[in-house]
Amino acid sequence: MKQYVIAGNWKMNKDLAESSQLVLALLKELPSPLPGVTVVVCPPFTSLALVAEALKGSPLKLGAQNMSEQDDGALTGEISWRMLKSIACEYVILGHSERRQYFKETDALINLKARKALVNGLRPILCVGETLQEREGGVTEKVVSGQVSGVLAGISAEEMGRVIIAYEPVWAIGTGRNATPQQAEDVHRLIRSLVSRAHGGGVAERLIIQYGGSVKPDNAADLLSQADINGALVGGACLKSDSFSAIVRAAGR
Ligand code: PEP
Repeated sequence: MKQYVIAGNWKMNKDLAESSQLVLALLKELPSPLPGVTVVVCPPFTSLALVAEALKGSPLKLGAQNMSEQDDGALTGEISWRMLKSIACEYVILGHSERRQYFKETDALINLKARKALVNGLRPILCVGETLQEREGGVTEKVVSGQVSGVLAGISAEEMGRVIIAYEPVWAIGTGRNATPQQAEDVHRLIRSLVSRAHGGGVAERLIIQYGGSVKPDNAADLLSQADINGALVGGACLKSDSFSAIVRAAGR
């Protein structure tokens, strides 16, 4: 059975009261697990503990939106893997295009974060994707291949079993302009073939590759039915329980 992971990235949205409302609404909409579908919610740091408490005993999993590559120390404003683990966080989004663009995160830094997450038992969701200029310049494959090999450097075949890659074309994030299912599938197939070359067919076959970029209830089923698309990383549409749960249900069909 095909496996899906649907993750909602709340970004810098939802204060404590709003987080509480959203997670309670989600728990109402998604009370029991759907076969083959893992659902992850990624609230801002300030809401993680509250959401963790609400999710106890539910099928929904908790993720963070970023993490330091260091263990601890004088790093004002940073959050460590240990802090995330201490509140039952199981997933962490790393290298989101907004972190790459606004906080100048590089593949090398994202790789350090990914390795730190993996050795400490967190599942990293590693984001890659080309800009509009790169797509129009015909270098999508080159850019995505470089990002994939950069963020996965030194990660073992065994660790790859816990890695999730999110293909998120930058031009499709928050723009309402999603990649067509075929455009997404082409890049997903490329990513799987790169992992197959590095770690073998078995590892590549089991790899979860999410698509992200303006996934909505009305385009989710088409995207998720592509052979190499195993889930979605959802931004805008995860801020409302009805649209996020509709996307989750599209994976469960
Ligand atoms: C994202 O930020 O990861 C994302 C895909 O956002 P949106 O769904 O709003 O395009």
